[in-house]
Amino acid sequence: MGSRRSTIRGGRLGGAPGSEVDRGGVVEPRRQVSYWCHAGHESRPAFALHVELPQTWACQVCGQPAGPEQDAPPPRERMAGGPPKTPFEFLMMRRTMAEGDELLEEALAKLREDRTARGRVR
Ligand SMILES: [Zn+2]
Repeated sequence: MGSRRSTIRGGRLGGAPGSEVDRGGVVEPRRQVSYWCHAGHESRPAFALHVELPQTWACQVCGQPAGPEQDAPPPRERMAGGPPKTPFEFLMMRRTMAEGDELLEEALAKLREDRTARGRVR
């Protein structure tokens, strides 16, 4: 029950519990920065002025890394969990299908071997 108490930061007491929302505090000025992903989506996160801007930002549309330069977006990540049809997923689909075919053929070959072996026993 009292485990939440251990999250007091820096020994500065007196903060109200759950004070993550800075209501009543000084509202920091923010700047809005545009990021573009490989697909050309624009994301516009806002940062506090004193915060150093990150090099990349996750695209708000497709989740791919986005960069501040529209003409030079960061490369796409291969393992994308967002869109249902990525080239990667398509490749995996084809691969498993090919593997399935191979397995089937192997099984058939074994079956034939078995049959011929049995036929020769007699
Ligand atoms: Zn995007």
